[in-house]
Amino acid sequence: MNINKKRLLVLSFINLLIIVHITLWYKFGCQKVGTFSLNGVVSLFGMGLLNSAAAFFIFVVLMTAFFGRLFCGWGCHFAFFQECALKIFGKFGINPKIIHSNANIIQYVFLLKTLTAIYEFWLIYGPPQFHIGLGDTQVMTVDLPRSPIIIILFVLFDAFLFIYLMGSRAFCRYVCPWAPMLAIFDNFSFWRIRKVNECKGCMSCTNSCTMGIRVHEEIAQYSVVVNTNCIRCLACTNACPNGTLSYRWSLNVISVTRRIQWLIPQQRDYNWYYEIMLIFCGLIVAYYTQRWLGSFQTFLGAAWGLCFGMLIIKFLDSSRVPLLETIQHKRRFLVAGLITLSTLAWCWTTSTSYDIRLLLRGNRYMDLLEYERAISIYNQAINEFPSNNEVRAALALAYKMNGDYNRAITEYKTLISNNPDNAALHNNLGTVYYRNGNYAQAIVEYKKSIQLDGHLTAAYGNIGLIFLKQGNVEEAIPFLRKVFPREEEMLKYILTLYNPNQEKMDRKGG
Ligand code: SF4
Ligand code: SF4
Ligand code: SF4
Repeated sequence: MNINKKRLLVLSFINLLIIVHITLWYKFGCQKVGTFSLNGVVSLFGMGLLNSAAAFFIFVVLMTAFFGRLFCGWGCHFAFFQECALKIFGKFGINPKIIHSNANIIQYVFLLKTLTAIYEFWLIYGPPQFHIGLGDTQVMTVDLPRSPIIIILFVLFDAFLFIYLMGSRAFCRYVCPWAPMLAIFDNFSFWRIRKVNECKGCMSCTNSCTMGIRVHEEIAQYSVVVNTNCIRCLACTNACPNGTLSYRWSLNVISVTRRIQWLIPQQRDYNWYYEIMLIFCGLIVAYYTQRWLGSFQTFLGAAWGLCFGMLIIKFLDSSRVPLLETIQHKRRFLVAGLITLSTLAWCWTTSTSYDIRLLLRGNRYMDLLEYERAISIYNQAINEFPSNNEVRAALALAYKMNGDYNRAITEYKTLISNNPDNAALHNNLGTVYYRNGNYAQAIVEYKKSIQLDGHLTAAYGNIGLIFLKQGNVEEAIPFLRKVFPREEEMLKYILTLYNPNQEKMDRKGG
């Protein structure tokens, strides 16, 4: 079995493990260990949380620093889809041309944007406090593509169309934000593709490389593959008829080239006008896909955008539209400027606003039952954003939970004056009156909320509860019937209320 088949087998096995993990998590509730994703860098440095994703991130980074980007060649589930697509194309005699372009700037923009999420976590939750929670995947899984449609779109566009238009491993070479990050660590790797025999210059190695690396040139120049896009797939060692190449311990890139290698293509297939158009298409579609489909779909959107850009280029080329000559000057300046501007624009348009940050920070203290701290943060937010009703509602709730009913009533009244037809607000105000022992006023508010929304069963239940508390079962029953359509359930509720576990029932009703 040749090395490519072995690798495909390993990648299939990885995907099988992922399916088993997802099934255990969602179907059988086995949630001890969460997602394995390089996104763990955000939870690790943003919150100090060592979850499964963060542990995975540390593992992959260390592995890359020692052995190079082995993970990309042998362990990434995205790699599997891309390799399969290439194999299927091969079966039909299609050999997609590998496009070399600076449009991979998009990867750096995505990486910087992802890393700014760490800063956002600091702003929201304060300095990270180290803690371990392997099953804590809350931050990571919110946007995962659980929808089959998204998965189908991913396979169709990111695997097939993208590879057809931009060549093998297009997702890895143009969109994946982890590629530039892993490439940095790859610079330190001693395990590389190395020349161990005489080279005849036949270029079989270069032709077999799915990452588009000019292997024969690097071997001729350095006797080692220095390109940090090398994913250690070993296809070149397999393809070399002369036994020239071997994956061996050798000097690392920096000691050979004396500088860090970034993911900048050595050659380019298009002029700058085309490249800027490609970058623009990738980023703009990524931005809108993120807004409409959620943050994970950013990468999907970038692939769509790049496909769209490539179709335009193909159209322009086939129509022979004359374009100006390539801009050669100040190329580095342009690249750096484009990355910075795109990242800034992206952060500016998608970052969490200050009032929402304060709200989230307060909510976190609410989750921890630290009501005083939550109240202080909500108050800070209200002072700066007095018209933000979402924050005021959170403040009212915090006062209620803290037992400061008078302040809670004041806040709910302010909310109601801004939004008098909101049934839920009247119900909430009623509940504060109830907790404060003012049953008469509570009933007034509950009735108002029923007038505004006849389907608000909580309000019926709350009135029923008050009547039961007052020993007035007959008055309570018509209201309780709205909550418990089945007579037995209602009777059970009433009986439970009058037993010694009354406090528990109070909480349920209130
Ligand atoms: S570059 Fe990204 S998508 Fe490609 S194999 Fe590596 S981690 Fe996976
Ligand atoms: S395949 Fe082997 S012999 Fe041919 S160019 Fe590459 S390293 Fe040299
Ligand atoms: S240089 Fe060789 S090992 Fe590296 S990606 Fe290309 S074919 Fe794979």
